[in-house]
Amino acid sequence: MIQSHGYAAQQSTTPLAPFSFSRRDPVERDVVVEIEYCGVCHSDIHSVRNEWGNAVYPMVPGHEIVGRVTAVGSAVRRFKVGERVAVGVIIDSCRTCASCKNNEEQYCEVGTTLTYGAPDKYGALTQGGYSNNIVVDEHFVHTLSAKLDPAAVAPLLCAGITTYSPLRHWKVEPGKKVGIVGLGGLGHMGLKFAHSFGAHVVQFTTSESKIADAKRLGADDVVISKDPAAMKKEENTFDFILDTVSAVHDLNAYLPLLKRDAAYCQVGLPDQPPVINMGNLLFKRRVLSGSIIGGMAETQQMLDYCAEHNIVSDVEVIPIQKINDAFERVVKADVKYRFVIDMASLKQQ
Ligand code: NAP
Ligand code: ZN
Ligand code: ZN
Repeated sequence: MIQSHGYAAQQSTTPLAPFSFSRRDPVERDVVVEIEYCGVCHSDIHSVRNEWGNAVYPMVPGHEIVGRVTAVGSAVRRFKVGERVAVGVIIDSCRTCASCKNNEEQYCEVGTTLTYGAPDKYGALTQGGYSNNIVVDEHFVHTLSAKLDPAAVAPLLCAGITTYSPLRHWKVEPGKKVGIVGLGGLGHMGLKFAHSFGAHVVQFTTSESKIADAKRLGADDVVISKDPAAMKKEENTFDFILDTVSAVHDLNAYLPLLKRDAAYCQVGLPDQPPVINMGNLLFKRRVLSGSIIGGMAETQQMLDYCAEHNIVSDVEVIPIQKINDAFERVVKADVKYRFVIDMASLKQQ
């Protein structure tokens, strides 16, 4: 077994604290990664605090992982020891269902194995990236360009692909007017991508203090979503809206902003269901949809796109000892725009 240490939650109500555990030795197609950086996703907070009701403890969160390969199994061909690689939100799927065969492992019909908090096929509970190493089948490992800052790349593995995939699926391109709701980790990546794809992008935010940043990050316009008059002015004008908000909020304030036949796509996953006024959908044949991360091929495509276009996340790098403060700040929407843990700090304990 490989010895690992990191920070774990022992239950939903206690802070993350140091934790030692073991991982399997690499089998044929496994890559062992020494973790250098791990992003802090709001999903880590929902999970640790059991806000989705399916948490299993002890839980080492973290699914925005960048590190160096330290060992490979005998059948691994894509990766070499010493190479810098990345791992995201899922580390296994069935590989044989229609979704997996279509390179959309995130929609595996048998079920994906999440990077943490899930039983794996070896009978172990998966543990995530707030730790010094991880063992992953090479199919779920990505190559990285040396051009980009590895700390700022880490959030691409969840915040990046989760926004890139629906923006591509719904064909965001020049000539389209697109809204991004919420300027947090996902939102700021959605804004960067929608701008890069050539759309006219409007950022919706509840935080007046983020207006200047939204413009710097690529917004053509910024609307304060708490201002009903400003919202009213935007009615029937959007081709697509991507909602990244982590808390329950009123979707009926946004649906009327879509044109006929346009889609609203939800990627934020609050712990409570929304109330939808169906009239907002049916009178204009509007579509309410959702999306989850992206497949492995599309994740690699997104990483390559980011290298080509010099896109990374705006990050605040923290030592792991600050993780509980960072969680509090994320919940208060006080992060610009993603915390990333420098895993070298684990050695400071
Ligand atoms: P985050 O950094 O906390 O950003 C969320 C943003 O939502 C905040 O910055 C804030 O933006 C806005 N917001 C927060 N509370 C609000 C409220 N009560 N009313 C209105 N707006 C509010 O979170 P994140 O890491 O981007 O994650 C966002 C959500 O996506 C989470 O629910 C997470 O679990 C989910 N997620 C889903 C996927 C997927 O595959 N679908 C992947 C990753 C994460 P403003 O200050 O601009 O208003
Ligand atoms: Zn995430
Ligand atoms: Zn499958």
